[in-house]
Amino acid sequence: MARKTTPRVAIIGAGPAGLMAAEVLSAQHIEVHVFEQKPSAARKFLMAGKTGLNISHAEDIETFIARYDQSAWLEPWIRQWDAAWIKAWMQDLGIESYVGSSGRIFPMEMKAAPLLRAWLKRLVEHQVEFHYRHQVLSLEDNALKIQNLRSNEIESLNFDAIVLACGAVSWSQLGSDGQWQQWLQPHSIEPFQASNAGVERAWSTFMQPMFGEPLKRVEAWVKGEPKSSGDIVISHYGLESGLIYKQGRALRRLLKQQQPMQLYLDLLPDISVEQLTEKLKSAKKQSLSNIWRKAGLDQVKASLVREMVEKSIWNDADTLAQRIKNLCVDLQGFRPIEEAISCAGGIKQEALNENLRIKSNPYVFCCGEMLDWDAPTGGYLLTACFATGRAAAEGVHQFLMQK
Ligand SMILES: Cc1cc2nc3c(=O)[nH]c(=O)nc-3n(C[C@H](O)[C@H](O)[C@H](O)COP(=O)(O)OP(=O)(O)OC[C@H]3O[C@@H](n4cnc5c(N)ncnc54)[C@H](O)[C@@H]3O)c2cc1C
Repeated sequence: MARKTTPRVAIIGAGPAGLMAAEVLSAQHIEVHVFEQKPSAARKFLMAGKTGLNISHAEDIETFIARYDQSAWLEPWIRQWDAAWIKAWMQDLGIESYVGSSGRIFPMEMKAAPLLRAWLKRLVEHQVEFHYRHQVLSLEDNALKIQNLRSNEIESLNFDAIVLACGAVSWSQLGSDGQWQQWLQPHSIEPFQASNAGVERAWSTFMQPMFGEPLKRVEAWVKGEPKSSGDIVISHYGLESGLIYKQGRALRRLLKQQQPMQLYLDLLPDISVEQLTEKLKSAKKQSLSNIWRKAGLDQVKASLVREMVEKSIWNDADTLAQRIKNLCVDLQGFRPIEEAISCAGGIKQEALNENLRIKSNPYVFCCGEMLDWDAPTGGYLLTACFATGRAAAEGVHQFLMQK
């Protein structure tokens, strides 16, 4: 039997996941209210666009899906709303995109602001009601207690369904403060951990001139795990870069197993250990700096070798070559979660049904970074936020149709 009244849905959070849910629901002529505690929408999305909004990735879909831990869970949604879909969706909003040399997809203008402007305009045209500076304080069944942060008034409102799109816990000044964790049963949440974050290592003062400098074209790995290659930046706190982020999952596993957090580096992956040994042996009369430079160690790599390899073996070509190609860096941990680009952990798959509805509360659906999946940088984070936002909204739609 057809419903007589228009159903009313609340979306908590105006980040990319919440906005995508709003898009799907408003197209179904559902009354959509978005509550956002910040004075404006998608602040983290805008921050992501500051250095170039990497919105997705053009690699083949199987490789793409394998980038996620929890990939089997996300797979159907990522397949449905993949990189090609995102490009077409942006184009529909008047935003052209391009594929960079690494396969990463960016809007032509690089920034997130034009895309967000066009998107919000369309959502408003579709009658989505935005309530900025409205903070949800609690959730019980289908009732929300909401505080208007301008007037401090608190009201309780009931909805036909609720979508949580509150984000994880990093960069909390942009809105994702994790307060929502109090609303759910603790066992339904995998504790959050920093992901796509720098790692800490205490350097001696000798390394100070190298802070901010890159170790170019190195390989990095955790013992027994796959290698990845790229650049690593030496920073005052340790090491940082996309290559470090790629090793994050394996490093977190070490921590979980209470093993030493050790990252191995090959500083010269383009030559074999035998070739390197020959180069280090070849010119005995030259200064050590010259020999190392000619062997391929630039100033940053040479500094790292001086920092990490005992002086007693600097002149032992065989042993030194082994160390340069297999340099074990002891790490002290990840940078604080607050600084992380994303978070591992969140609402567990087993706490949700196949429509991203919370099993213990039939009115509530969840999406975006608050779910327990993770991926490296490369556009995978936003792709999954969009896809789960759409999936949760479709779940809501189905639920409302059955009522
Ligand atoms: C510096 C940086 C760069 C990044 N670059 C990229 C990139 O290039 N590519 C990529 O794929 N990803 C990138 N990311 C990650 C990406 O931005 C996030 O994964 C994404 O924004 C998460 O979307 P979300 O909608 O799940 O949550 P969020 O974007 O965190 O949005 C959640 C929203 O919910 C609101 N909220 C929370 N609690 C409440 C409440 N109680 N009441 C009302 N409102 C509430 C928050 O204020 C917030 O606006 C980057 C992240 C950072 C920090």
